[in-house]
Amino acid sequence: MKFILAQDNTLKLKLPKLTRQLNSLCTSVKFEHLKLDYQAPDELISCPKTHSKYLRNIKPSLGDQDYILLITDTQYDNNYFYEEEKQLIIISFFGWPYFTSLPAENGLVYFICGILMDFVIPWDAVEHKERLGCVNDFLMDKTRVDDGMRKGHLCPACRERLQKNPPDEASKAIYSDVQQILGVLSMASSKEQNFLSPPNPEMEEARAELESIPDPAPAQPVRNRPAIGKGTQVFISYAHEDEKYKDKLLEHLSMLQRLGMISTWNDRMIEAGEKYENVINENLNKSGIIIMLISASFIASDYCYGIEMKTALEREEKDEAVAISVILKDCLWDMMPFAKLLVLPKDGKPVQRFTRKDEAYTSVARAIAKLIEGN
Ligand SMILES: [Zn+2]
Repeated sequence: MKFILAQDNTLKLKLPKLTRQLNSLCTSVKFEHLKLDYQAPDELISCPKTHSKYLRNIKPSLGDQDYILLITDTQYDNNYFYEEEKQLIIISFFGWPYFTSLPAENGLVYFICGILMDFVIPWDAVEHKERLGCVNDFLMDKTRVDDGMRKGHLCPACRERLQKNPPDEASKAIYSDVQQILGVLSMASSKEQNFLSPPNPEMEEARAELESIPDPAPAQPVRNRPAIGKGTQVFISYAHEDEKYKDKLLEHLSMLQRLGMISTWNDRMIEAGEKYENVINENLNKSGIIIMLISASFIASDYCYGIEMKTALEREEKDEAVAISVILKDCLWDMMPFAKLLVLPKDGKPVQRFTRKDEAYTSVARAIAKLIEGN
């Protein structure tokens, strides 16, 4: 599913930045910005008249499930705040300051969550007619939208419905995207901030903390890869025997995730029914950073060593990705082909041998933060 975001000349939202931020949070939905050179008509919006006029001007190629969201400050003639015609949704932010002091960007993001939730709990199945500050309210009207953006949640009634009627796999993926967006939105909104402007104090603090940790990472030169930047996916390749090391590392990477710097992937995220090898392969090939958790078990595993490491080294060779080896336990890692690449912790001292293991994991998190920020 794709959302193409455009605005007319009545608003000046930071759409390119907004689409980038949304893309870094979502996996099942894609966002694109469409630059429009279009003067808003000097009259109220009327569906389908205005929609048809716009559709004549914009002709992007749309799939069945794609939408164009056109954002305007002009009022609807029926006082609605949005209507849809042939996959074009015109959203009017007319009167927005009467409902909330929060920026329209936050409202747009919240509206998108509302549209996405329609795939999880269909609009007509939402059981409450009252406005509860629930994300499912917003499509009906803007009452309590302020409260809703700050809470960024599903009301208990909707949560209960989800438990009773679990969504299918595709909807589940959409729901998890909605939760990601709502998390950032409510964090920003509850601090009176724009969805686009974390760094908020909490994140700044987290960043400062990260900066202040002494750097045990090696001074190995790291080449810059164009594919690495904010939102890069980090693939974790590990032997299942080393699962608890992987979980600990994920905990340490979660701070970078909260800062929007990376997303992570490991094979425990494969959903029931998905083709194991295909999903692994797909994620291995789209990740900008591949971390290999090295132990004798890793080296002994045909899958880790034969497939994942091979792909990691090939992609590193082509400058498509950075392969990082994290030595977990004593083994003959220095005789392996990855030994010439970035090896952590410093001097290949195995994580297992650290008295303070957090120090070892932090050096890995720091190295990744550096890779991301160096671009
Ligand atoms: Zn609800």
